[in-house]
Amino acid sequence: MARAPFVIAGTEIKAGTRATVEVPVAKLYTHTPLHIPVEVVHGRRDGPVLMVCGAIHGDEINGVEIVRRVLRNSALRHLRGTLVAVPIVNIFGFVQRSRYLPDRRDLNRCFPGSESGSLGGRIAYLLRTQIMEHVTHIIDLHTGAIHRFNLPQVRAELKNPETARMAEAFGAPVIINAGLREGSLRAYADSLDIPVVTFEGGEALRFDEVVITSGVKGVIRVMRELEMVPQKKGPRAPKKRSETAANSQWVRADIDGIMRPVASLGQKVRKGQRLAMVADPFGEAEVAITSPCSGIVICVNNLPLVNEGEAIYHIARFDELSEAEKAMDYFRSSVEAEVSEAVVPVHPWDELQK
Ligand SMILES: [Zn+2]
Repeated sequence: MARAPFVIAGTEIKAGTRATVEVPVAKLYTHTPLHIPVEVVHGRRDGPVLMVCGAIHGDEINGVEIVRRVLRNSALRHLRGTLVAVPIVNIFGFVQRSRYLPDRRDLNRCFPGSESGSLGGRIAYLLRTQIMEHVTHIIDLHTGAIHRFNLPQVRAELKNPETARMAEAFGAPVIINAGLREGSLRAYADSLDIPVVTFEGGEALRFDEVVITSGVKGVIRVMRELEMVPQKKGPRAPKKRSETAANSQWVRADIDGIMRPVASLGQKVRKGQRLAMVADPFGEAEVAITSPCSGIVICVNNLPLVNEGEAIYHIARFDELSEAEKAMDYFRSSVEAEVSEAVVPVHPWDELQK
């Protein structure tokens, strides 16, 4: 018997086909209707129903490109189950190039939402009733905040074994066992017992090829783990791509000033090691920012102008730092090698830095 069609916002997608569905959200005050575009790839054979979504924070655009590339991936020709791709959840923020909604709310704090709630609450309600409550697994794609660059990393509540399995399969160098924030998509999915992982990488309003490549590979690896797409032929990759952090800590600027970074993203640092210098414009008052712990740098601030108290480095701590270093080395050799072949350098001096 043929597999039943997948229904979303009143549209039926037959088994073995794909379709783009415009899920109506709201109207702009110009009376222009607004939709969340969703692409559904409904496999011929039964299997998991995976939602992959991006830009719930409207300026976090790496996920949008990750979704685009996943949808063009040839592995989907043999799809078992269903892929529900939502490249842009916060359509308002995306148009405005902003993390937030027009009422300045964070859509990722509006779940579960309600039909008669705030704008964010209504979008959350729509997303969960139309899509989330009909899927079996979720990958939520994020990017760092503005001026902050995240090392590719997976955040997940590892108590759920299926979530832990997805996090491990994704293969980002670092996994953070992250608690659930009330009102977030991740917390709501978890409350429904839907396994969910969040991928973080790069910086808001910027594309980064290493981040995008690792995101695409991660999504496909999770689909392979869930047996939605066929196993890769050829030699098997080493199982150990990721190391799970024990915890993480933000390092803040002690004074206002102009920052010169010393440590870089992905670098191993020791407790007390210099991360950056902060000085006044004359160089008379100068303070070294040092690491409060040993670990791997998982986020750097790219804006040299800092205020006292501002978070400028994020350090992940590990029980076995040498294992985390190995995961970083593996990440560099695998993803970066691939990227260098595929990308035209944006700056002519990118080549010089190699
Ligand atoms: Zn985000």
